[in-house]
Amino acid sequence: MTNNHKRFNTSAIHDGYDPSDLLGSLTAPLFQTSTFTFETAEEGERRFAGEEDGYMYSRLGNPTVTVLEEKMAALEKGERGLAFASGMAAVSAILVALTKANDHILCSAGLYGCTFGLVSMMKEKYNIDHDFSMMETKDEVRGLIRPETACIYVETPINPTMKLIDLQMVAEVAHECGIPVVVDNTFASPYLQRPLELGCDVVIHSATKYIGGHGDVIAGVAVGKKDFLDHVQMTTQKDMGGIMSPLDAWLLIRGLKTLPIRVDRHCDNAEKIYAKLNKHPKVSRVLYPDDSDHPDYHIRQKQMKRGGGLISFEVKGTKKDAQKMLNNLGFIKIAVSLGDAETLIQHPATMTHSVVPEASRQQMGVNDQLIRLSVGLEEWEDIWGDLEQALDQL
Ligand SMILES: *Cc1c(COP(=O)(O)O)cnc(C)c1O
Repeated sequence: MTNNHKRFNTSAIHDGYDPSDLLGSLTAPLFQTSTFTFETAEEGERRFAGEEDGYMYSRLGNPTVTVLEEKMAALEKGERGLAFASGMAAVSAILVALTKANDHILCSAGLYGCTFGLVSMMKEKYNIDHDFSMMETKDEVRGLIRPETACIYVETPINPTMKLIDLQMVAEVAHECGIPVVVDNTFASPYLQRPLELGCDVVIHSATKYIGGHGDVIAGVAVGKKDFLDHVQMTTQKDMGGIMSPLDAWLLIRGLKTLPIRVDRHCDNAEKIYAKLNKHPKVSRVLYPDDSDHPDYHIRQKQMKRGGGLISFEVKGTKKDAQKMLNNLGFIKIAVSLGDAETLIQHPATMTHSVVPEASRQQMGVNDQLIRLSVGLEEWEDIWGDLEQALDQL
């Protein structure tokens, strides 16, 4: 069913599903069922033995979820996709599958708050150690790889500082050492960045964000080699149970059809807002990777189609001023999450990164004046109008 030669926009609409498989239904049907019946006891035996293809029980696979998995594999250019109940269900299933007690994980300096929480818990419970690195040079990465390093785990753009890591460079060092690279690609989406094409091994998404795009689903997806994800499916996914519901898969299939159009518009708007924020007297610093003055601009040009829909900026003053700015807003909503049609704004130090200890937070560059903006799909002049009046009142 999957045709890897289609262009991205066409793939997003057509891959993973053929109406002739299901009574000509144009859109993929929602198989809202927990289990599947067998014609005979022997058929059930063959399916559980893996001798015959077919569905058995929705925790082990569901046809609507399969469509989403195939679509995501096509878009990320991977062999297979595996869908999860949330981004964190995907992150935890992949990291637990790749590690055993006393191993080591090399992480990018700057991780999603709950991923930071997960690696901290793995250290406490299983003595799985970790290091954080900006991964700026091959020597820096090589110097942190130990005999017990099980994988490299990277986020780029890093949340919320928008720093970038050169994925091709990291993959080259990792493969010299025979270890896999896992990339959280949530911020970029496969439309802007495809880590597997750059040599990385596993891609993870919080599909809650740009993949769904409408703020109505919590979900996760991983894409990578078939053998590895078959193994994850039959171990940490099946036995820990963080599977995606068929309804969520159905909503995500619908969301994916407009992913390229939405992300282009998010980027168009973000570029306009970035230019305006840069000139506002109450703003001391703006972080967006699509500026030739950004220290990682060459990495953006190398591995991302555009700069994305997220901008972080620091207001002049204190935590109180940052909070006041948020409270001054009109239609822009104060909320964590990102990638929705609605413009969302949040204060990382007290919200998404509040679980990160103060010292690590400062080290990551998440200070009290920092604000993160997920630029939505409204008219950019209206978004700027709301931001400007909120800043002017400071
Ligand atoms: C939201 C997010 C996650 C976690 O995803 P959930 O769907 O909320 O579990 C992981 N990584 C990044 C970068 C995210 O933004």
